[in-house]
Amino acid sequence: QAINIEHSSLVYYSYELGDKLSRQIQLIDALKLSIQNNKLNLHYQPQLHLNSKKIIGAETLCRWTLENKSISPAEFIPLAEQSGLIIPLGNWILKTACLQAKNWLDQDINLVIAVNISPRQFSQPNFVNLVKDTLKQSQLPAKNLELEITEGVLMHQETDTISMLEQLKQLGVQLSIDDFGTGYSSLSYLKKFPVDKLKIDQSFILDSHQSKEDRDIVQTIVSLGKNLGLSLIAEGVENQQHQDFLMKMDCDEIQGYFFSRPLPAKQFTHFYNQHLGKV
Ligand code: C2E
Ligand code: MG
Ligand code: MG
Ligand code: MG
Repeated sequence: QAINIEHSSLVYYSYELGDKLSRQIQLIDALKLSIQNNKLNLHYQPQLHLNSKKIIGAETLCRWTLENKSISPAEFIPLAEQSGLIIPLGNWILKTACLQAKNWLDQDINLVIAVNISPRQFSQPNFVNLVKDTLKQSQLPAKNLELEITEGVLMHQETDTISMLEQLKQLGVQLSIDDFGTGYSSLSYLKKFPVDKLKIDQSFILDSHQSKEDRDIVQTIVSLGKNLGLSLIAEGVENQQHQDFLMKMDCDEIQGYFFSRPLPAKQFTHFYNQHLGKV
């Protein structure tokens, strides 16, 4: 009997694994087709400057609908990264976001557009030139583009990374560290990398109203950032309590469902103009 149980659990596990793998393979195939057929789109989440109450930026977030079901970027971005599809996809995202930001600029909507850059995209040998060419083609001023990178990217191949970041800074783009506080935060590396902004990870904000530890972490990150001359944005701001806490902390900017969900470009324009009327 024991042998039977072992045998059946073995079969069970490999079946599960097979299921997961085949979903991944199917998704990668479907993603490839969707990229080729231009079936993905972008949403933009407003970023609010707390003191001035102005919308000063937007984060670009990729959206994919397959057979009427929306698939989370938390699922498809890692698959794109593994399969290499992140290169064509990431190029398209960067180009589309820059063109959109330029379009807004032409309507007097002056925003810094933030684009997430995943590790494999960043480690392309021609990445700096790609950014340069994209800015040139879209005619977006470099200061209106922000690249979000994660701590993981920074810890990888240190010397190359520093020189690349310096070249990007020379172009004039803004650099921010996404999900700050969740990676290998070492205080010394922050000094070495020419970044402009820390994005405090949403996990610390989401529980901040009930967790003193999380509030302490936020306070520590804010004072660290200020001491290093960096600006600070908090993500995952879902309610008034979160916003009040961040104002008290003197955090510069916020982003989250409380102010606005990520929006399609058209709705973003509408939201921006409505908001402008209130400021
Ligand atoms: P991220 O860059 O940290 O993006 C923030 C995520 O938090 C987004 O999820 C956003 O929709 C969500 N969010 C915004 N406000 C709130 C809030 O108040 N509460 C909560 N609970 N969540 C909030 P999303 O769009 O599902 O993206 C997940 C992740 O997928 C992103 O995390 C990023 O790592 C990746 N991703 C999304 N779009 C792109 C892209 O265009 N390129 C790359 N390379 N990665 C992307
Ligand atoms: Mg991000
Ligand atoms: Mg983040
Ligand atoms: Mg995240």
